Amino acid sequence: MSNPDREAENRTAAYDRYIASLFAPEDAALTDTLDAMQQGNLPSINVSYAEGKILQVLALAVGARRVLEIGTLGGFSGIHFARVLPDGGKLVTLELDPHHADVARKNFERANVQEKVEIHVGPAADTLDKLAAEGAEPFDVVYIDADKDGYVTYLQKSLPLLREGGLLLADNALPNAVLTGEDAGAKRYNTAAAQTDGLTSVILPVLRDKGIDGLTVSVKAAR
Ligand code: SAH
Ligand code: MG
Repeated sequence: MSNPDREAENRTAAYDRYIASLFAPEDAALTDTLDAMQQGNLPSINVSYAEGKILQVLALAVGARRVLEIGTLGGFSGIHFARVLPDGGKLVTLELDPHHADVARKNFERANVQEKVEIHVGPAADTLDKLAAEGAEPFDVVYIDADKDGYVTYLQKSLPLLREGGLLLADNALPNAVLTGEDAGAKRYNTAAAQTDGLTSVILPVLRDKGIDGLTVSVKAAR
């Protein structure tokens, strides 16, 4: 890597640390969650502390009571959502891998948010069909953070479950869309979001340890 690249990376990391140190101080439940993920051999592909804060601010801004998350992993982003839900609020989180779901369940318990969390194990597309068939109560926020190839399907299947004025969020939407091939999942997702009637969207750049990623944020219009 060239020197200017390295300098840019150092600056990005410093900005990220600054935001996290101000607004997202580490706490025991979150560091324990990351430790348990490492012990369980889960990949470290969770959101950062600062991005966790972005998720909380967005959820609070729409008065979220019900959040639908696609891609639980070890529950790191989920704990952030669950913590800003009011009494009686619910995080419904979907995970394919039963081992990830087990690690997450223990982490939700350790963070003492288990009463606000419902984990559904299985392919997210099937669970979304099931939620629709059951006539699930509408969600205030949908957060997509699973396999990129599924993103467009998740958009199509979760949009009817989102209330008017609700937020549709999709993680890891920038490098995967810009720096990879034509049919990258995030690129297809961003195009679909841009072309879906009734969605007003933008990609928020998100600082990472190294470099920048993006969170696609869409507001569902009232009819
Ligand atoms: N939101 C988490 C990170 C999720 S990583 C956080 O920031 O803390 C992506 C997760 O999606 C992985 O746990 C992976 O097992 C899961 N996943 C992959 N394909 C899936 C599918 N088809 N249905 C549901 N979950 C899936
Ligand atoms: Mg992610």
